[in-house]
Amino acid sequence: MNNSLSNSKNLLVMKFGGTSMGSADRIKVAAKLTTDQHAKRPVAIVVSAMSKVTDLLLDSMKKAEAGDEAGLEANLAALTEKHETCCKQLLPEAAQKAALDGVHTLIGEFSKIVKGMLLLGERPLPATDRAVAIGERLSALMIAAYIESQGTPAVAVNAAQVIATDMVFGNATPLMEETRERAAKVIGPLFAKKTLPVVTGFNASTLDGRPTTLGRGGSDFSASILAAALDAEELWIWTDVDGIMTADPRLVPDARVLDEITYAEAAELAYAGAKVLHPRTLAPLVEKGIPVWSKNSFAPEKPGTRIVPQIHAEGGPHAVTSMKDVALVSIEPIGSTISGARLMAEALHALDAADVELLAITSSSYRQNFCFLIKLSELDRALKQLQEEFAIELAHGYVKAPEVDTEVGLLAVVGEGMRGTAGLAGRIFTAISRENINIIAIAQGSSELTIAIAVRRSGLENAVRAVHQECGLSGK
Ligand code: ASP
Ligand code: MG
Repeated sequence: MNNSLSNSKNLLVMKFGGTSMGSADRIKVAAKLTTDQHAKRPVAIVVSAMSKVTDLLLDSMKKAEAGDEAGLEANLAALTEKHETCCKQLLPEAAQKAALDGVHTLIGEFSKIVKGMLLLGERPLPATDRAVAIGERLSALMIAAYIESQGTPAVAVNAAQVIATDMVFGNATPLMEETRERAAKVIGPLFAKKTLPVVTGFNASTLDGRPTTLGRGGSDFSASILAAALDAEELWIWTDVDGIMTADPRLVPDARVLDEITYAEAAELAYAGAKVLHPRTLAPLVEKGIPVWSKNSFAPEKPGTRIVPQIHAEGGPHAVTSMKDVALVSIEPIGSTISGARLMAEALHALDAADVELLAITSSSYRQNFCFLIKLSELDRALKQLQEEFAIELAHGYVKAPEVDTEVGLLAVVGEGMRGTAGLAGRIFTAISRENINIIAIAQGSSELTIAIAVRRSGLENAVRAVHQECGLSGK
């Protein structure tokens, strides 16, 4: 559709996460994986900040806000040291000076912003997004310089020039049409010159150019947005695990890597706590059905997991995942002054207004008592907004104060093949009860893609193992 993109047919977009960019040695591996593919077809890569750098940047801003100048200086020194060392270990003599100058300029930009925060005693959101993206800009600069030093033309591209989003700073959503236009303008010409674009993950900008970010871990999402905007043939996401697994191997030693799962399954797993993909990653790919591979940059010879629009459904679940830092909030009306529907509508409205993610929701009793699971980290925000939303109802005694249970864990069983498989829920519940673990709440949507179960926190790990075993997911 666009001439400038016609050279990018068979385009492969690859994303390297923080651990894959974590040291000079890791960056060399990432660069090799990139140039091996680039020899065969057009490639664009998206990179995260070096591991721990985003935390360090955010911590610096917190220190600045709190007036901790000494702490801030120590962080800036650590940041500088880390990237200087990396440049020196990574790059040949001749390429070092330019890269180090670039690193110092970027860290200078960062320190200017944080010093402003120190002065103000606050952290404005757009400034935070501008500052936190420096981590990705640093790593993009370094790997681009390295790839270039190895003889492949490469250039670091700030995704603020490419990805357009709404104005939800810190957790923005892409505007795909505008992103397509920007990508064609900024990245298209690079393909035409056979130059490899190294795009920063995580960051973007509003239509009027104000910096935004896509949420923690958002580089996966950046990569899928870019893959969709550039009509890529495939997206490869490089991490430090072999692929998407049937369960967290730290909880379930005989968990195994899945060969193939669907977008819907991967998204469910991500939402329910599996840490392999940012939960919003798959959405941009659905329209064109662009396949994704989740691969291990520490073991690139392993095939990884392929994520595709559809697979031939085999019976039963594909994976079990869990989340421990969750809270169960129950809402119960007093008397019948307000309808259950109204109560739920208001509660959901409050959660939406507070930008709180709903992990599961259930209601069953005629009194329309209902409960929902949210992340513990979002609990305060949720309760505050619920108090506001229900101010009148609470004052008149139409509803009880929300009850909160934080001693819970969420277990989710996911699989397209569960649809229409009778007896599965019974087996899962029996497996959990055999471990003497009480089930507190259950939710299964009519798509039958996921069964979400809230159990006592203390029994969560055992429940995961029991369900994994019962569902026959263990390795052979
Ligand atoms: N560096 C960002 C973070 O840690 C984005 C990412 O790694 O995906 O959240
Ligand atoms: Mg990540």
